[in-house]
Amino acid sequence: MRCVKVRAPATIANVVCGFDCIGFAVENPFDEISVELINEKTVRIEHIDNFNLPTEANKNVAGRALLAMLEKVSLKKGFKVTIKKGMKPGSGIGSSAASAIGSVFAANELLGKPFNSNDLIEFALEGEFLASGSKHADNLAPCLLGGFVLVRSVEPLDIVRLNSPKLFVTIIHPQIEIKTSEARSVLPERISLKDAVSAWANVGALVASLEKKDYELLARSLKDKIIEPVRKRFIPKFDEMKQASLMAGAIGGGIAGSGPSVFMLSKSEGIARKVEKAIAEVFASTGIDFKTYVSRLSSCGVVVEEFS
Ligand code: ADP
Repeated sequence: MRCVKVRAPATIANVVCGFDCIGFAVENPFDEISVELINEKTVRIEHIDNFNLPTEANKNVAGRALLAMLEKVSLKKGFKVTIKKGMKPGSGIGSSAASAIGSVFAANELLGKPFNSNDLIEFALEGEFLASGSKHADNLAPCLLGGFVLVRSVEPLDIVRLNSPKLFVTIIHPQIEIKTSEARSVLPERISLKDAVSAWANVGALVASLEKKDYELLARSLKDKIIEPVRKRFIPKFDEMKQASLMAGAIGGGIAGSGPSVFMLSKSEGIARKVEKAIAEVFASTGIDFKTYVSRLSSCGVVVEEFS
């Protein structure tokens, strides 16, 4: 086997009350990534998309993650990576995580799986550090494992895969740019004990609702008094889109990652499509271009499409 092609899904992190600790994977959109073994200890990157991402290994999240992996491999081999991105970088739906996880997962398959899930996430964290200046795993872990994931700790890595009921997600991606640094700069340095209590009560309830498959509790727990109020100003019509989604039958939702995408969860594909229509109607009035997706949650995360 010399080449492995994988499909690495989009992910939604910062799930409302689960800021920096809860994320989930969707089936669509996804990156397609092929990794080939080469006889030189280096990483070469080629993009077959129109996003103009850097092809220098050190400047591409996939390259950074693979270089971290190569440091732990005694073989005198390297990788050639071909990336076809299915989602725009900086969308808030885990574009960087998909490339980093897809690459290290495929490379691990080529090497005969010497590394476990935590090792792969550790390598991919180097890519996230390049993309955002911080090591957060709430996109990486669901991209690798699928479903909902709780990141209890990054150092040391402690990842909890959660069960969840059948869910569909509607995503709207306004074609605007929000700099991660700007989205970070508005975060409060201190929060009141009252808000902290409400946050951890909601996170506990969110985890319980997923495990118990309790949609009503899920709806009640998708609340955030700390991050959403300060970040929603970057997203035109955020409150109106949320209100329209709830009226159309959505369970709840919020800002995807640090935006600009917004996500809403629903019980069925039919409701998720109604939510898509409702959000699109609201957002269209801004005159800003946007893209929407409706997807089932991914139950397995990154998958192999082809060995050759
Ligand atoms: P997202 O939420 O969509 O993952 P991020 O801000 O986390 O967005 O990551 C996107 C940043 O990472 C952009 O600055 C982009 O140029 C950089 N980047 C480097 N390599 C890649 C890659 N292979 N895929 C996506 N983004 C990449």
